[in-house]
Amino acid sequence: MAVSQTMSTVVAVQPHVDLAVRGARVLSDPSAALRSDAVVLIEGSKVVDVVDAAEGWDAARTIEVDDGFITPGLVNAHTHLGLSFARTLTHRGGQPIYDVFWPLETHLRVEDVEAFSALAAAESLLSGVTTVLDHYIHAERAERVTNALGLRAFLGETVMTAAGPFGAESLDRSLSHVAAKRAPDALGRALVAPHAVDTNDDRTLETMRALSESSHVPLHLHLAQSSRERAVVAERVGCSSVEYARRLGLLERPSVLAHCSYLDPGDVDILASGSGAVIAYCPTVQAMDGMVQPASTIERLGGCVAIGTDSTPNERYSVLHEAAVAVLGQRQAGLDWTPRQSLRAATTALADTLEIDGLGTLRPGSPADLVIWEGAAPHMAIADDPVIAAVMAPPRVHTTIVAGNPVVSDGVLCNASIDEICSVSADAKRSLFERAGLS
Ligand SMILES: [Zn+2]
Repeated sequence: MAVSQTMSTVVAVQPHVDLAVRGARVLSDPSAALRSDAVVLIEGSKVVDVVDAAEGWDAARTIEVDDGFITPGLVNAHTHLGLSFARTLTHRGGQPIYDVFWPLETHLRVEDVEAFSALAAAESLLSGVTTVLDHYIHAERAERVTNALGLRAFLGETVMTAAGPFGAESLDRSLSHVAAKRAPDALGRALVAPHAVDTNDDRTLETMRALSESSHVPLHLHLAQSSRERAVVAERVGCSSVEYARRLGLLERPSVLAHCSYLDPGDVDILASGSGAVIAYCPTVQAMDGMVQPASTIERLGGCVAIGTDSTPNERYSVLHEAAVAVLGQRQAGLDWTPRQSLRAATTALADTLEIDGLGTLRPGSPADLVIWEGAAPHMAIADDPVIAAVMAPPRVHTTIVAGNPVVSDGVLCNASIDEICSVSADAKRSLFERAGLS
């Protein structure tokens, strides 16, 4: 693959911009037609335009990848960066959340969360993810590393006041996290993040709903995630988790609802009612759990579905991998779901919830978040439809750009050493497992 980076280039037909990114093919929107030999023009943190290369351009810097396949950056609708230590553990069987994660998490240190978050943030950028919605403890440490690596991140401090390892102090940490001042266009932003409706009491859930409303910050919670949750909620209030969340007013706010797997009759209609909630579909986790969320039906009835990796068993925080699993999962359940639909769920689905105009597209005014995939891979080179090929078998990432800044170049992180990140997180994991008595 021929690659060149120059400080200026060609004819000054277009207005002068900070950065031009040229590839053999550009997909400016998941629903758009592919363009051949086009250039994305970027000024500051925004896209100015996408033009044919033949028109010429004038930029302070140009990144050209001759075989490059350019798409908008991917958005991970639900993840736990700090849980990257738990990879592969879900394959041990049982109920990993309760049998494995919770006991381990009582031994977590603040610095561990930073180390594990750095690894997951790095993997995100290296797999073409430019925005993550995180949900974990010590969110300020995760925010520190996502800012340092250049990853756009919406971070929620996980709150569990009724069950789980984090205790009542998690509510205080969440209130402080949301109250921290951030610039409106900061890379790191806040979410209000109750863990779930079964792991918090009614009073906490009402506090978090009110906090979301008063602070104008979206909610992010697990919903209908497990059989345990279903049983606890049925015992507590005699209805499904989705109905319980509706009664609590959690679905009336801009909110991101992870999983929605264990649904009762009527729940799909509630989720599809256009209440402002977006469902974060994490298909690999659901496959491991023997479940299939009816994402296709929810969208057909008017709801909105985004794609998340969760943490494990997606072993590398790759949203495009999840997009492929979503296609397979929906089709195996007899539902229609196309690769383009997966790509839309992995890019544009959260623009309104996060209030970022053009998120997941490359149009004038969009955030300058994009990926150059290596388009010379055999399956891409001969594909009748390269978009389908890329979704179903993600090619290698050559360049990732967030807010106009290259953060991965030629497959290498720009702002940190992946070897150092791996070394620090491996040491932290070894120490954590020793403290927890695991091998
Ligand atoms: Zn989760």
